[in-house]
Amino acid sequence: MNDGPRVAGVMGWPVEHSRSPIIHRYWLERHGIAGDYIKLPVRPENLERGLRALSALGFAGCNLTLPHKEMALAIVDRVDPLARRIGAINTVVVGADGSLEGRNTDAFGFIENLRAGAPQWRARTGPALVLGAGGGARAAIAALLDEGIPELYLANRGLARADALAEAFGERVRVVSWERRARALAGVTLLVNATSLGMTNAPSLDLPLDLLPPSATVTDLVYVPLMTPLLAAARDRGNPVVDGLGMLMHQGRPGFAAWFGVLPEVTPELRNRVAATLLA
Ligand code: NDP
Repeated sequence: MNDGPRVAGVMGWPVEHSRSPIIHRYWLERHGIAGDYIKLPVRPENLERGLRALSALGFAGCNLTLPHKEMALAIVDRVDPLARRIGAINTVVVGADGSLEGRNTDAFGFIENLRAGAPQWRARTGPALVLGAGGGARAAIAALLDEGIPELYLANRGLARADALAEAFGERVRVVSWERRARALAGVTLLVNATSLGMTNAPSLDLPLDLLPPSATVTDLVYVPLMTPLLAAARDRGNPVVDGLGMLMHQGRPGFAAWFGVLPEVTPELRNRVAATLLA
C-alpha cells in the first residue's frame, strides 16, 4: 500500500450510472480527507485481475456493483460471515498485506435507513412481508432476522428462488406464493419491495394494499423514481413510508470507514445532492 492520498472506487459493468462517487466524494470533502473515489469499469471476465490490481495501484478498496457481487465471493481472500450468508459482496477492503476482504454492507444500509426513516417501527412487534428473492432481498432478510423480526413472509415470482432462501435463512422465513402476496399483508408491521418492479421503465408492482394495517411501515429498495407507485399508494392511505435512496447512502458508510478511517453520516445535503441526479 502506498502512503499517498487514499483512493477507493466502484467496480461494475456498466458502472456509468453509479451514484457512489457522489456519495463518497461528498464525505471526503466534508471530512477534509485528501483522497478520491472513482468509477472502475471492469468487464466480468476481468474481475479477478481488476480486484488483484487494487493493492498494487494503492487502492484502499472498492465497492462492487452489478454484475460482480456474487462472482467476487470466489476471488477475495476472506469473506465476512454476513456477506457469506447473503451470498454477495458489495465492499472490498485491501489489507496492509495486500489481501482482499469481502464484506456486505447492504443489510446495514437497509436497517439504518429504516431506523432513520421510520423511528417508530420495531422489528420485534410483528411480521414483515418481503417481495423479491434477489441480492437486495437477501440483504433485507438477513438484516430483519438479525434485528429480531419474529416472522417473515417471503413472496417471489419464481417460487424455487423463494424456497431456496427460506431453506437458507431458517424457520422464521415462510414462503407465500406470488399470487397470494396481497393476502399476506394482513397483520404485517412492515412491507418491503425488494423486486425491481416499480422502477422507471420496469413493469409496475401490482399489489392492492387493502389488507395492509394502517400503521405498517412500507419501504422500497427501488429508488428511481424516489417515490415509487407503491410508496405513493401507501403514503396516500396514511402508512409511514421510507424510500430506497437512504439504503444506498447508508450502505456506503462502513466501506468509507474502512478505507478512510471515519464513519460518515447521511445528511440532508448529501441526500439532496444524490436526489438531484435522479431527476436529471
Ligand atoms: P435481482 O435481479 O437480484 O432480483 C430481482 C427481483 O425482482 C427478483 O426477485 C425477481 O423475481 C423480481 N422481478 C423482476 N422482474 C419481475 C417481474 N416482472 N415480476 C415479478 N417479479 C420480478 O435484483 P436486486 O435484488 O439486486 O435488486 C432489486 C431492486 O432493488 C432493484 O431495483 C435494485 O436497484 C434495488 N436495490 C436497491 C438497493 C438500495 O441500496 N436501495 C440495494 C440493492 C438493490 P424472480 O426471482 O422471479 O426473477
